[in-house]
Amino acid sequence: AAGLMSGKRGLIMGVANDKSIAWGIARECAAAGAEIAFTFQGEALERRVRPLAESIGSDMILPCDVTDPASIDAAFAAIEARWGKLDFIVHAIGFSDKNELRGRYVDTSYANFELTMNVSVYSFTAVAQRAEKLMGDGGSMLTLTYYGSERVMPHYNVMGIAKSALECSVRYMAMDLGPRGIRVNSLSAGPIKTLAASGIGDFRYILKWNELNSPLRRNVTTTDVGKAGMYLLSDLSSGVTGENHHVDSGYHVVGMKAEDAPDI
Ligand code: NAD
Repeated sequence: AAGLMSGKRGLIMGVANDKSIAWGIARECAAAGAEIAFTFQGEALERRVRPLAESIGSDMILPCDVTDPASIDAAFAAIEARWGKLDFIVHAIGFSDKNELRGRYVDTSYANFELTMNVSVYSFTAVAQRAEKLMGDGGSMLTLTYYGSERVMPHYNVMGIAKSALECSVRYMAMDLGPRGIRVNSLSAGPIKTLAASGIGDFRYILKWNELNSPLRRNVTTTDVGKAGMYLLSDLSSGVTGENHHVDSGYHVVGMKAEDAPDI
């Protein structure tokens, strides 16, 4: 893939540490020649994101909390001042109160429903509004989702409703932005042990279940997701938009427990 992303400039939002899915995508894109800007949420994470960004030659490391529109504006103003354009963005951001990622969905509160939808769904649209203005030559926008949007998964609860809405917003934005040569897609990753995933009840069981029952009989890594993410951000996927691409060892095609899977 060397050189595939040469000359491309992108913004990657959602790196928290070296386990983050966003970091897997950043690594692959940087190795293929992309120039990358990063946003981080809060000072505590800046200490983790800055050394990672610098390790791949990036010095654009900007604060951005997506619940604050002024902070999104400021990040895009900094990118416009420095680069004047963008070729791609990655939105790898989601949040819900972990107390509601267990038990029953039906018990979810309005306050957390609203917060989850704001951070995990609307923020991609808010970011797309700003990014569109910097994508005069066309571009690619990518967000991260999970199969809990399509089928009921234990404990995923309000996050499943949010991911359904996020995937639907991908289709609407693909239609809105397509005439300008901007593609919008989502990548549905299998379970990966990250900071965000640790908030989901019984996540270890979900990981084990996927490992034993997916067609590839293993879990995916951030490198698997990073490579597929780079495909969706690069010209290799020039005819692809409005798509939800599964990178989950094939788990989404499975209808029943594998016959060779032991009890867990
Ligand atoms: P992560 O904890 O590394 O990343 C989540 C990121 O969201 C963090 O960088 C955090 O700072 C950011 N964030 C949360 N609230 C924010 C706010 N208000 N403003 C700005 N940033 C905010 O975990 P991850 O698993 O890499 O998550 C990235 C994306 O991938 C999420 O959308 C998640 O739902 C999705 N995803 C994760 C898995 C998995 O199993 N880990 C599977 C499929 C999809």
